[in-house]
Amino acid sequence: CGIVGFVGEQNDALPFIFSGLKRLEYRGYDSAGIALAAQGGIGIQKARGKLAALGELLGAMPSGVPCGIGHTRWATHGRPTDINAHPHTDCHGEIATVHNGIIENFQELRAELIALGHHFLSDTDTEVIPHLLEEYGGAHDLEGAVRTAEKRLIGAYAFLAISSRQPDRIIAVRRTSPLIIGLGDGENYLASDFSAFLSATRQAQVLENGDMAVVTPHTVRIMNLAGETVERPIMTVDWDI
Ligand code: GLU
Repeated sequence: CGIVGFVGEQNDALPFIFSGLKRLEYRGYDSAGIALAAQGGIGIQKARGKLAALGELLGAMPSGVPCGIGHTRWATHGRPTDINAHPHTDCHGEIATVHNGIIENFQELRAELIALGHHFLSDTDTEVIPHLLEEYGGAHDLEGAVRTAEKRLIGAYAFLAISSRQPDRIIAVRRTSPLIIGLGDGENYLASDFSAFLSATRQAQVLENGDMAVVTPHTVRIMNLAGETVERPIMTVDWDI
């Protein structure tokens, strides 16, 4: 339902992501979660219910981590529970993803991944994404794995992925569901809706259907379905929220 991402050099990702999720609350949700990526591991907290329930868990998350993703979920596959809340991870807890929309062929992908030895924790369609990324070497080469994995996903969706071995980037994919990049100073943002980051920047790039983006604190690289680098106009958002 709602997606927020932050990748920077200095500032903590956590407060930005939590306040971004609050700005997306109006869209409705049944659960929420946040993952932070740093060398050495992914930290995750998630909770069913209101964001206040997630807020109570944030004290257990590390401070000073400048890369993370957050999600407010509106369940389509799997009941609204703590475990089904996003982000979801791979078997080794090195990759985390948040996802909007639906992966229509998740059952066959899940069966294939289970046959390869993957262990699933949730009932969501989403969880096939981090496991596919793991299968394609995503811990070390997140961009390459996303490029390979997204060719296997059928549906209308958007997702973000982070890796604890490459905590300087967020990889984003847009297939129908909206995704926007906010351009900051030494940090960049991602969200499913402008309102999540307008307090930090008015400069934005709207991903087009089929785009994939590699976002670091100082760079944004956007590619089309064929893997060619494409230019998306930088727009200045001049309305108030
Ligand atoms: N299909 C996913 C799920 O049920 C994502 C739903 C959403 O867009 O929030 O977990």
